[in-house]
Amino acid sequence: TWMFVCIHSTARGPAGGGTRMKTYPTPADGLADAMRLSAAMTLKMAATDIPFGGAKAVLAVSALPEGDERRRLLLRYGDLAASLGGNFQTGPDVNTTIADMDVIAERHEHVFCRSKERGGSGDPGPYTARGVFHGIRASAAQVFGTPDLAGRSVLVQGVGDVGARLAEQLAEAASRVLVSDIDTERAKDIADRIGAEVVRAETAIGTDCDIYAPCALGGTLSAETIPQLRCRIVAGSANNQLGEPDDGARLAEAGILYAPDYVINAGGVIHAWGVESLGWDLETVEDRLAGIGTTLTDIYEYAEAEGITTEAAAEQLARSRLVRS
Ligand code: NAD
Repeated sequence: TWMFVCIHSTARGPAGGGTRMKTYPTPADGLADAMRLSAAMTLKMAATDIPFGGAKAVLAVSALPEGDERRRLLLRYGDLAASLGGNFQTGPDVNTTIADMDVIAERHEHVFCRSKERGGSGDPGPYTARGVFHGIRASAAQVFGTPDLAGRSVLVQGVGDVGARLAEQLAEAASRVLVSDIDTERAKDIADRIGAEVVRAETAIGTDCDIYAPCALGGTLSAETIPQLRCRIVAGSANNQLGEPDDGARLAEAGILYAPDYVINAGGVIHAWGVESLGWDLETVEDRLAGIGTTLTDIYEYAEAEGITTEAAAEQLARSRLVRS
């Protein structure tokens, strides 16, 4: 296993970011991923306006380890993380769990989203979903003139930890919910439970809907897929939704409003870092989750006034907050 810990910025405070476990074609690909993701965390923390910098760790494994082998790896990684002291704070990411955080925390003091039994804040997914819901309402207000989602069709692509909860909230708001997942059983279960329609995973991108919420993997927006979209808004939790920076302009040219991913999906970070590091109570967390909607509205208005993409507007907002006062 190659372990990469990338600290991108401490300009706003100690650097935080998840620990991803994944197989890569080469170790250099793992490093490149960690570097790119750590830069995105800097923007996320700044856009969210919490006093932390950006970091990310990648455990580039040849196969996902289980049992004792996994525990040994996580403890070795915990020692590495601890050697960086409080400058590096971490939490779960792709292929790492709350239980994994409990193990890493045996060696490293600055681990977020441990289990509640171990004094952590637990699963960030429900808070990420709530933040996305606020973001969708703000996006609807921008495009349709009202945040009310009753009767709006929303396609949730990926009904895992975040997507399933988002679909539930949308159903409660009387939206017409469409769900799609490569795990067809999972999609059917949630659809039956909340009265949603199932869309086949292969046809999700071309589905006619008001709002497309990517909540599976990143990179679903590209030169190839954007012309196929039949929605007015893209607003979902997935990280790195744009295949390349030009895709932001492609969406704008297609008349589709894009909610920058690291702004709309910050709810989990807001909850974990807010509760565990900043001492926030749940009321403050809820206010900050609602603030995701306000931030997006500011970004949309700024983008419109300056004639730039929403992605560029979000980045300018975040960068303006990186200057030390
Ligand atoms: P998850 O693994 O629980 O769920 C992902 C779901 O997407 C699964 O049901 C999976 O079967 C499905 N899926 C995978 N590929 C698919 C495809 N091609 N088409 C349709 N469905 C597909 O993950 P999650 O925690 O719900 O996170 C979802 C996304 O949001 C990820 O991109 C994650 O990085 C991002 N995110 C999550 C959080 C969080 O708090 N969990 C925070 C920020 C960002």
